[in-house]
Amino acid sequence: MPRRILLVEDDTRLAAMLLEYLGEAGFRVESAVEGERALERLAREPFDAVVLDLGLPDVDGLEVCRRLRAQADTPVLMLTARGDAMDRVLGLEIGADDYLPKPFEPRELLARLRAVLRRGARPANAGLLHFGRLEIDRDAHAVRLDGVEKPLTGHQFALLVALAEHAGRVLSREVLMDLVKGTTFEPFDRSIDMHISRIRAAIEDDPKAPRRILTLRGAGYVFSKSQES
Ligand code: CA
Repeated sequence: MPRRILLVEDDTRLAAMLLEYLGEAGFRVESAVEGERALERLAREPFDAVVLDLGLPDVDGLEVCRRLRAQADTPVLMLTARGDAMDRVLGLEIGADDYLPKPFEPRELLARLRAVLRRGARPANAGLLHFGRLEIDRDAHAVRLDGVEKPLTGHQFALLVALAEHAGRVLSREVLMDLVKGTTFEPFDRSIDMHISRIRAAIEDDPKAPRRILTLRGAGYVFSKSQES
C-alpha cells in the first residue's frame, strides 16, 4: 500500500513539483492550498503524514497543526520560511514532528518525510493488552477470551479498557465514570455496577466468582493483574 501524504502548500509551482517528485518516490500525494480545506480532508480521510507550509492564505500552518493535534497524531513535516527560528520552535512545540526551511532540495524533503513516517509508525499490535487468556484489542474495539470474541457495548468496552489500563489499582465508580465519559456517543443509561456485571458475564469463567474484575466493597473495582489460577 502506498503511503498517503497530504501536501498543504499555496505555492502552486512548488506544490506541483513536489506532487510529481513524491509521486515518483512511491507516495500517493493529495494536495490542498488552504488550511481549512486541509483540516476538512484530514477529518474525513486517513493520511499517513502531512507536509504543511507555514504561510497559508487563510489559517496559518501553526493553527492547522494545532487543530490537527487536537484530534490525531498524524506525523507533520512543517515547511517554513528561511531562517525563521521562532516559527521552528513554535512549530515543534505545537506538535509538528520536524520542519524544513525553504528553499530545500526535494531529496531532503523526501528524507525528512521518510524519517517522520518511521517515527510516527506505531509498533504492530500496540493497541493490544494481554492478561493471560484475555486479550483486549483497543484498536479494533474487541475483547477475546481464549481467542473467542466477546460482545460488549461501547460503554462496557470503554469500562473494561479503563480498568485494564490501570490494572492493579482500585478505581472508584466516580473515577471510572470520568475515565469513560466522552469515549462513546451512547448515553450512560445504566449504573456502573450493571455494566460491570455484563462485562463479567462476558469475560469471567465464573461471573459469580470473578477473578478478573474484583469488587472492593466501599471502594470500587480493580482489574486483577494475576488472573490465572
Ligand atoms: Ca506559503
